[in-house]
Amino acid sequence: MSYDPDNIFTKIIAGDIPSHKVYEDDVCISIMDIMPEAPGHVLVVPKKGTRNLLDADPEMLAEVIKRVQKIGKAVKQAMDADGILLRQSSEESAGQTVYHLHFHLIPCHDNVKRKD
Ligand code: 5GP
Repeated sequence: MSYDPDNIFTKIIAGDIPSHKVYEDDVCISIMDIMPEAPGHVLVVPKKGTRNLLDADPEMLAEVIKRVQKIGKAVKQAMDADGILLRQSSEESAGQTVYHLHFHLIPCHDNVKRKD
């Protein structure tokens, strides 16, 4: 499967489409999900064009995962959450809808039961 740069996250990274950005450095951005599954649901999106986890360059991935951990800790604290759900979908069968690698960070609370 190939990477198509004509996707919504490429446009958000370029600043052509607005987003609520909560973090940015040379490796990735983090934005609020437009259809959050829970309050504080953010996405971590690497700037390098990559289709999904299965296609990712391991060295780039290592840098992105460091940011996922850092942003996950910050989101947990900011949302006063008990835990964080990390999700990444690769390909349609797994639920991927935007074909630019991204990680979901979803705050979870002990008193709010999740369906998944
Ligand atoms: P996937 O289904 O590929 O795992 O996740 C894609 C996510 O991107 C979905 O949770 C969806 O709500 C989010 N999303 C789609 N379009 C936009 C957009 O234009 N802006 C933002 N912030 N999130 C988006």
